[in-house]
Amino acid sequence: MVRMEGVTRYYRVGGQTIGALDGVSFEIPKGQFTSIVGPSGSGKSTLLNMLGCLDRPNAGTYRLDGEDVSAFDDERASDFRNRRIGFVFQSFHLLPRLSVLENTLLPRRFLRGPDPGLEARALALLERMGLGRHLAHRPGQLSGGQMQRVAIARALLMQPALLLADEPTGNLDSRSAADVLALIAEVHASGQTVVLVTHDADVASRAQRQIGIRDGRIEFDAVR
Ligand code: ADP
Ligand code: MG
Repeated sequence: MVRMEGVTRYYRVGGQTIGALDGVSFEIPKGQFTSIVGPSGSGKSTLLNMLGCLDRPNAGTYRLDGEDVSAFDDERASDFRNRRIGFVFQSFHLLPRLSVLENTLLPRRFLRGPDPGLEARALALLERMGLGRHLAHRPGQLSGGQMQRVAIARALLMQPALLLADEPTGNLDSRSAADVLALIAEVHASGQTVVLVTHDADVASRAQRQIGIRDGRIEFDAVR
């Protein structure tokens, strides 16, 4: 599903070069639930952006779902991202003036043709997320945990090859965090490939596999 080989990313700031990823290689098979864990500044966000086709390596290759996405131009990368990747962010990224259902249906604007099953899928996902009675609510009327569950429903709407979550529990109280992690585990159990990025070892330990990253390199890679 995912194959990274020698992925290197550096930033030039002023006259200096700042390394963010240094020759990172790993594979993730379809259906695996992997966490990427490391301290602040270790390169997690850079790696997640790479996985999500938001960024390209300076060296190395990244293949996803059989395609060499590291060679895509911006337009192909964004098209691929819209169709094949679901994102969940720490800060939810919901639109405040849209309802729960409308937020969930946002990926519809990237459709190229009709998708008659879309609305039924949105409703089923919201039901699964425990939000069946909140379809008309605005994000501001929801708890943090509920907002994140809307974001998960939205991320799954297009049936992505890869679900990426960047510190998905970072803004939640411990009980909502536990709910959201349980839902992500359930989504994985239904066959979804999931990559979760976190600095929190407890959160990381919920995954089948943990890839530890430090100073832009893989420090450990453990499957339980
Ligand atoms: P993490 O998400 O683990 O905190 P990042 O991937 O954000 O780590 O950052 C890895 C390294 O790359 C850090 O040294 C960071 O300062 C640097 N970095 C990240 N993004 C940029 C950028 N846009 N410009 C310059 N340096 C960056
Ligand atoms: Mg980060």
